[in-house]
Amino acid sequence: MADVTSTWTEPSNTPLALLLLGKGTDPASERGVDCPGDLPAPSDPDLVARATAAKAALGDRVFVLGHHYQRDEVIRFADVTGDSFKLAQQAAARPDAEFIVFCGVHFMAESADILTKPSQRVILPDLAAGCSMADMAVLGQVETAWEHFQDLGIAGDIVPVTYMNSSADIKGFVGRNSGVVCTSSNAKRALTWSFEQGSKVFFLPDQHLGRNTAVLEMGFDLDDCVLYDPHKPHGGLTDEELRNAKMILWRGHCSVHGRFTIDSVREVRERVPGVNVLVHPECRHDVVRAADYVGSTEYIIKALDAAPAGSAWAVGTELNLVRRLALAHPDKQVMFLDRTVCYCSTMNRIDLPHLVWTLEELVAGRVPNVITVDEKTAREARVALDQMLALP
Ligand code: SF4
Repeated sequence: MADVTSTWTEPSNTPLALLLLGKGTDPASERGVDCPGDLPAPSDPDLVARATAAKAALGDRVFVLGHHYQRDEVIRFADVTGDSFKLAQQAAARPDAEFIVFCGVHFMAESADILTKPSQRVILPDLAAGCSMADMAVLGQVETAWEHFQDLGIAGDIVPVTYMNSSADIKGFVGRNSGVVCTSSNAKRALTWSFEQGSKVFFLPDQHLGRNTAVLEMGFDLDDCVLYDPHKPHGGLTDEELRNAKMILWRGHCSVHGRFTIDSVREVRERVPGVNVLVHPECRHDVVRAADYVGSTEYIIKALDAAPAGSAWAVGTELNLVRRLALAHPDKQVMFLDRTVCYCSTMNRIDLPHLVWTLEELVAGRVPNVITVDEKTAREARVALDQMLALP
């Protein structure tokens, strides 16, 4: 049996790594929200004991959700781990928990707030934990695009579809325009349903998931897809291009999965003969085409569970998850697809000091960092989420 310590190689540590690890700051891209309280020092040797004690004191009043991309130091305190949709469902399945502490990013906490009872409070331990992809689709920009589609007389043919990784107000826009939310697991079903309702789809905010699903799973041509750039007049597209398009893709992407390149795939195939390349559909189209397997986070986890001993896997998704999978499968060679670090920097904002601070505040009777979606937005977003749950 292979020793995982000899097969797992930590990607190289670049100066950027400190930022990605949450040990630096990037005022240009972060929301710039400071923690409103006194965070414990990261060097405090009692952090684990403090988190354990605070969580025990809260008992069933608190339910801690941990996204697969979270750090190990946080995941160890999660009552359940999963992808964004599974976690939102888990939150909804705990109506008796007073506090839902969401160790994930902002849009996930919003979805949990939409799906939980009004009396439950959803808490994000660090308000700076946003998602760069979700932030690429701003409601005003999306409404401007839609108005243009209305002016062209094509809005009635278009079904808006938004990926789960979007803000609540984008989900609300989709809900009030008779569209649907999708995840990376059900994107094909969502698109199939959408093309039964209309002849075009307006896909937000991840161009790669939209393109990969349409072309690789639905049989569309690349030419059927156009890219709407919100920073250009009319998205940078002619009226004819918009009229002819089947898929109007929003120009958004995941800054983590977007880093994998076709060179990463070629390099690992040369270095590790027989390696299986397994990537997330948020990766670029050429990377997904060159991979052996493509699927959601939950698919990636199951694929490695089912893989035979001795097999080699290069995985193109977030590094915290890949490292945990490597440690969980010491009989398989599990490696990161890229040579350099690829953490989700905003997800990594949530660390043990923030979790300790959050739990201790709750014990003290204070409720920090509550994420609340207004009633109208929540109602409209819920229409699009319910439509997803009703997909055949
Ligand atoms: S991994 Fe990508 S899509 Fe997921 S939270 Fe981070 S930036 Fe957003």
